[in-house]
Amino acid sequence: QQQPSDSQSTVISGRHCLTDEVRHQFPILHQQVHGQPLVYLDNAATTQKPNAVLQALDHYYRCDNANVHRGVHALSERATWAMESARDTIQQFINAASREEVVFVRGTTEGINLVAHGVAESILQPGDEIVISAMEHHSNIVPWQLVCQRTQAVLKVIPILPSGELDLEAYQQLLSERSRLVAISHISNALGTINPVAKIISIAHDHGIPVLVDGAQAVAHTPVDVQALDCDFYVFSGHKVYGPTGIGVLYGKQVWLDRFPPYQGGGEMIRRVSFDHTEFNTLPYKFEAGTPAIAEAVGLGAALQWFSHYRQHSLWEHEATLLYQLQAQLKTLSGVTIIGNAKEKTAVCSFTVAGIHPHDLGTLLDHCGIAVRAGHHCAMPVMDFFNVPATVRASLAIYNTTEDIARLIKGLEQSMEFWQ
Ligand code: PLP
Repeated sequence: QQQPSDSQSTVISGRHCLTDEVRHQFPILHQQVHGQPLVYLDNAATTQKPNAVLQALDHYYRCDNANVHRGVHALSERATWAMESARDTIQQFINAASREEVVFVRGTTEGINLVAHGVAESILQPGDEIVISAMEHHSNIVPWQLVCQRTQAVLKVIPILPSGELDLEAYQQLLSERSRLVAISHISNALGTINPVAKIISIAHDHGIPVLVDGAQAVAHTPVDVQALDCDFYVFSGHKVYGPTGIGVLYGKQVWLDRFPPYQGGGEMIRRVSFDHTEFNTLPYKFEAGTPAIAEAVGLGAALQWFSHYRQHSLWEHEATLLYQLQAQLKTLSGVTIIGNAKEKTAVCSFTVAGIHPHDLGTLLDHCGIAVRAGHHCAMPVMDFFNVPATVRASLAIYNTTEDIARLIKGLEQSMEFWQ
C-alpha cells in the first residue's frame, strides 16, 4: 500500500499545509468540469479516494480475489488475511479494545439499523424511551421511529439552539427512568456542529443509559477514540473517510454485541446449522451474514492506513483555517446567511443567499466547475428549525485549499450577478 513519503509528511505539518503532493494522490481532482478546473466541496456527501485506495482495490481484484473464511486454497487465505487485516487497522484507528468489537456493515445507515434491531429485540418494552436529537441525519431518526412503532417505545428529541448547538439542559431533563438509549451524531452533516459527545455520554452513563454515536461526519475530521469516549456504539461509513462505498463499521462494546441477537441470518454468521437448532458464530461474525464486501473492506483498511499518516494536529488546523476563511469571506457577501454558528464547528458550512434557491445556486456553481451540495442534506428537521427549505453546503476535506475557497467565493459572486 502506498504511504505518504517523508517529504509529504513534512509539507503537511506546515500550518497552511495541504499541498500539491496530497492533491496529486487524488487523480479525480485533476479534471475540468464545464471547462473549469474542478473544485470539489461536497465532501460531507462523499470523499474522493487516494491512489493508495485505488491501488488496494485494483491489487485485490487482480491478485487475491476469492471468498473469505471458508476456502482452503491460497487465494482464499490471502483474501481472508487482507480483510481481517483491515479489521485490525480499523480497531487501531478507533482504538477499540478488541477486534471482536469491529463489525463490518454497509455503512452508517446499516450500522444504526443493526443497533436499532438489537435494542428492539433485547431491551425495549412498551413505554420505554429512545433519545435522539433534532440535529440528526435521517439515518439516525427513521430507524428509531420504525423501532418505536414496532415496540411502542417513545422517541424523545433533544432540541437545538439557534446557534446550531444542542440544548444540553433540555437533554438532561429529557432523560428519565424509561430512557433506554441515547443516539446522537458526533458532527452534524447539515451544520458542522461538533457535539460534546464525551459529556453527553457521561451524563447518559450517570443514568445507566447506553449511547450510540453516529460518527459518519466525524471520522475524517476529528480524532476518534471509542475507549476514551466510552461510547457503547460508534458507527461510520468508509466512503466519508477516503474509502470505498458499500462498507462501514459498527463498533459495539462486546457486552452489548453479545447480548444482541443476530441482525440477519445466512452463511458466515453460523457455526452449525441443523433443522432442530442453529448455533451462531462468535463475534464479530455473528453480525456478518453472507459474503461480505471483501474488496471494499480491504479498500477501507487502505484508506485508514493512508489517512493515519495525516491524522494529526496540523490536519485539524488546516481544515479549521479553511472553514474560518470560508465563513469570513461569505460574511462579506450581501444576502448570504450562514446557517449554524456553533462555537465548535468543523468542515461544513451551510448557507443561503437571499433571492436564489439553493438548487439554482448549486447548478450555477456547477457551471463554474464547483461541486457543492444543495438540498435538505437528509436533515429535514434541521431545515424546519431554521425555517429554510434547503441550504447550499460547502464541505471540506484534506485536499481542499485556500484557492478552492477563493474559487467558491468568486463563483458565488458571479452567480449572484448573473441571477439579478
Ligand atoms: N449520519 C450522518 C451524520 C451522515 O452525514 C450520513 C451521510 O451523509 C449518514 C448518517 C448516512 O451515511 P450512509 O449513507 O453512508 O449510510
